[in-house]
Amino acid sequence: MNFDFTDREEAFRKEVRAWLEANLPDDLRGRAFAASRADRDEVRRLRAWQKQMCEAGYVGLDWPKEFGGRGATIVEMVILYQEMARAESPQLVNRGGVSMLGPTLMKHGTATQQQRHLAKILTADELWCQGFSEPNAGSDLANLQTRAVREGDHFVVNGQKVWTSMAHVADWCFLLVRTDPNAAKHKGISFLLVEMKTPGITVRPLRQITGEAEFNEVFFDNVRVPSDNLVGKLNEGWSVAITTLAYERDLLTFIRHISLRNALHRLVRLVKKQEKFGDPILRQKIASLWIAEQALQLNGYRSLSKILRGGAPGPEGSTSKLFWSQVDQELAHVATEVIGPYSQIAGESSWAPDDGQWEFYELLARASGIRAGTSEILRNILAERVLGLPKD
Ligand SMILES: Cc1cc2nc3c(=O)[nH]c(=O)nc-3n(C[C@H](O)[C@H](O)[C@H](O)COP(=O)(O)OP(=O)(O)OC[C@H]3O[C@@H](n4cnc5c(N)ncnc54)[C@H](O)[C@@H]3O)c2cc1C
Repeated sequence: MNFDFTDREEAFRKEVRAWLEANLPDDLRGRAFAASRADRDEVRRLRAWQKQMCEAGYVGLDWPKEFGGRGATIVEMVILYQEMARAESPQLVNRGGVSMLGPTLMKHGTATQQQRHLAKILTADELWCQGFSEPNAGSDLANLQTRAVREGDHFVVNGQKVWTSMAHVADWCFLLVRTDPNAAKHKGISFLLVEMKTPGITVRPLRQITGEAEFNEVFFDNVRVPSDNLVGKLNEGWSVAITTLAYERDLLTFIRHISLRNALHRLVRLVKKQEKFGDPILRQKIASLWIAEQALQLNGYRSLSKILRGGAPGPEGSTSKLFWSQVDQELAHVATEVIGPYSQIAGESSWAPDDGQWEFYELLARASGIRAGTSEILRNILAERVLGLPKD
């Protein structure tokens, strides 16, 4: 790809930059680095911010126009993310909806489902959570046991999901259920859209190592879901889920790049503030993080180019997710070294550097090698499906 920006693209950059400068609320600036999605007030502010961005035409930029997007090019998307990083804007709060469910519905949803949900995903009027993982179905997702039984024009759902991010604030959930227990593991799974206020759903927050409860256990007890909310064909939900997961790895990794770049800039500022740039070992570490960040960006361009040219995300997208998680953790680790013992002080204390955001970041980074596919599983995918090595 050609990395030079055209006059039109530079004009777009100017437009986005000016808009972000004029509109990004002060209390959200700098939140891309270690933003919380656990706190209800924070989520409310982030929803309002996504809506404002949407009204200005900056959400779902790459979505086709008929679905409420701008049909933007890869380069325009890259420019938007770069400018969001530059302005230290938070990521979209409804990114699971925008980057995972939206593309899935465009590909597999009915016209009614598309009309019902896509616009509200963009405005964040409806927040979505992802109900895939279960106590015995994480890496081995196809082992999921939550049951849905057809009763007339409804499915009746019973079972449990776990690690469901934002379930405590979400309006809707895209849910994987087993609809044929006698079929082989990857068959007999269906993909449902479930409204979180449906009777029979109980959400229990789980406290994480960061101290926050951003994810939850979700229990389904005779939950009645209209059969019109089935996405794709009955018992063929696995192929729908594969679309969602591939977008999760590709697009979300690219978007997470915003917070990575932000953290890197902050790290450099921190090192300058602490006058530690004279340390040759630290300089090497920062240079290597900088190079890694650039490599990640170029790899992201490659995957996105393929998607936007009409291709589907492929197994090679696992490289970006795997590498991103390593860089993210290394960055947090270097920051901890720079700060020394103070890096352990949490945000409430006046002794915490950068309001405790580094402490939060270091703990949050533990999850980078787990969520959206663990590093071990990604290595298996790369070994088998990209390098053609024998099966696990
Ligand atoms: C912060 C966070 C947010 C999340 N949000 C959501 C969400 O919103 N919705 C949702 O559905 N899920 C969510 N998850 C769950 C996430 O997708 C799972 O944690 C992940 O898929 C791993 O599953 P598991 O935790 O059951 O671990 P397991 O699958 O039990 O794995 C345990 C360990 O064994 C290793 N392992 C397993 N199988 C193999 C193998 N074949 N070869 C080599 N090693 C193997 C794994 O790599 C891991 O180290 C979230 C997780 C985190 C950390």
